[in-house]
Amino acid sequence: MKLIFLGPPGAGKGTVAQKLVDDLKIIQISTGDLLREAVKKGTELGKKAKAYMDAGELVPDDLVIGLLKERIARPDCQNGFILDGFPRTIPQADALAAAKVVVDKVINFNIADAVIISRLSGRRVSRKTGKIYNVNPGGIPMPPPDMPKDELFQRDDDKPEAISNRLVVYRKQTEPLIAYYTKKNLIINVDGNRDLGPIAAEVKKALGVK
Ligand code: AMP
Repeated sequence: MKLIFLGPPGAGKGTVAQKLVDDLKIIQISTGDLLREAVKKGTELGKKAKAYMDAGELVPDDLVIGLLKERIARPDCQNGFILDGFPRTIPQADALAAAKVVVDKVINFNIADAVIISRLSGRRVSRKTGKIYNVNPGGIPMPPPDMPKDELFQRDDDKPEAISNRLVVYRKQTEPLIAYYTKKNLIINVDGNRDLGPIAAEVKKALGVK
């Protein structure tokens, strides 16, 4: 099964994907995670991507498309995958189609800006496991009380200036993909304003997964 999770930053795409991968026996591919890894390692790609990411802008299509194609060519993708945060532009979607990737469904997370801002500003990530927590209530696990404070970090692009820019970028560059995939009859809409448990359950039901 090949799925795309589409929706604004903070819609819960990553967390819901983490909840589904075991049930679906497929892997989650987050271009954001791959890019952050490249930045951390200081690769050429990471150096080029960092300034865009910190500002909440999109990394240029050619860089992200190259990265994604390389990732989906690896053997662990054979069973399928959830693309979390890709495509984010029409040229990226066209590149996926040109690479003959047959997408089964596109899950579109609808969510209000106020909920996005609360989710993103409260998001914290474990340096050790990559797991996502949230210090604001909303159904995403709070960090366990015994977790050392320095295990968690806040992404630079989850800080207030970058958050508002990411929303603008989403509306302008990524939202047109809803119409793109509606035309292909692939969209499943989910209400992302709720806690993530019910959202994950709804996605599973819509996909016919027990
Ligand atoms: P994410 O973790 O999905 O929110 O991505 C974090 C940042 O990585 C984004 O704000 C972009 O700067 C960059 N990024 C991730 N995926 C893409 C993509 N498909 N196209 C362009 N930039 C991306």
